[in-house]
Amino acid sequence: MTETKRLKKNDGTKEAVSNGKASQIPVVHPRYSDLISRVKNFSIIESTLREGEQFANAFFDQETKIKIAKALDEFGVEYIEITSPAASEQSRLDCIAICNLGLKAKILTHVRCHMDDARIAVETGVDGLDVVIGTSSFLREFSHGKDMDYIIKQATEVIKFIQSKGLEVRFSSEDSFRSDLVDLLNLYKTVDKLGVNRVGIADTVGCADPRQVYELVRTLRGVVSCDIETHFHNDTGCAIANAYAALEAGATHIDTSVLGIGERNGITPLGGLVARMYTADREGVMAKYKLDKLRDVENLVAEAVQIQVPFNNYITGYCAFTHKAGIHAKAILNNPSTYEILDPHDFGMTRYVSIGHRLTGWNAVKNRAQQLDLALSDAEIKEVTQQIKQLADIKPLGVEEVDTLLRKFHHEKTSSEKAEDD
Ligand SMILES: [Zn+2]
Repeated sequence: MTETKRLKKNDGTKEAVSNGKASQIPVVHPRYSDLISRVKNFSIIESTLREGEQFANAFFDQETKIKIAKALDEFGVEYIEITSPAASEQSRLDCIAICNLGLKAKILTHVRCHMDDARIAVETGVDGLDVVIGTSSFLREFSHGKDMDYIIKQATEVIKFIQSKGLEVRFSSEDSFRSDLVDLLNLYKTVDKLGVNRVGIADTVGCADPRQVYELVRTLRGVVSCDIETHFHNDTGCAIANAYAALEAGATHIDTSVLGIGERNGITPLGGLVARMYTADREGVMAKYKLDKLRDVENLVAEAVQIQVPFNNYITGYCAFTHKAGIHAKAILNNPSTYEILDPHDFGMTRYVSIGHRLTGWNAVKNRAQQLDLALSDAEIKEVTQQIKQLADIKPLGVEEVDTLLRKFHHEKTSSEKAEDD
């Protein structure tokens, strides 16, 4: 038998059989499964090397940028977005160096909607330009069409220039959720007719909620025929939910950064988005991305920007697969999917059942005794569990302490049995 074999069952669950141990992985279908939803067909634009450079601690030298780009490519993201080569001379050289790596991922750079920036960017070897109208309040300032002609004229020149070089082009506004909707839709309709590859919706200030996102993207989907890229800041903790809502409404591309680093407290994190998408389409996500490489890329970026991976991080946080309460531990040991929506093995992670605490249960202790190959009856396990609880009421015990206790208990039992036999 192959190590992991999946059987489709007619009750809508899939059975994952790993080393003979079966676990039921419930399939979570998107709530609104319709023709517009792109939940099962989306691309990641990984922006650690652009948005991530705007994180307070970030300073990436060329060697680090190359390492991060290679790690992201290895993970399997479809696009890597890097800082504008117009930002500084070193940024330009780094952009060229990354383009020369010959990665599978397409390389994009993020530039202002200005011919000066576009001229520099097209010479670096990038596959495409993410063009942004550079003033956050432009639509409010120019609302009701006053200076829309000027904006459209400038956008047209830049877009046609990029297209003449045979490169992909995305056109985006900033602060899309606080912009005048009529102006925004008119502008996007115009650039769509020019044949841009994508238009972009950006929640630059992190004010949007999933319902607003769904409505705006759904409206835009009815107006343009090109792809729709979305970018969500995480000021109120909605960045992953907003990305998911955008895909449900027909967005095609999601911007992420590793650990969510970016301006202020950042954007949709790569790992968190992957966790979300995995629950909707496990097989599709596993086919697209090398999930066991996630931890490596996160550790690489965490080290580069001198932060710790947060304890509650999606998938890789140190307690992401730790089960503690006795009732959870019992269920997990019988069938992991009772309290796990993500299978740690799919991400190269392992689950851990914590037992050295006052909430422990005898099933978890029994499992540990079996791992240590200590033969104890259920009655004996219950007895030693009481001992663990008594001690853990004073202070929690480490694994070694629990193991020592179990070994000592086992030794005493077996030697007293021997004494009785003699
Ligand atoms: Zn941003």
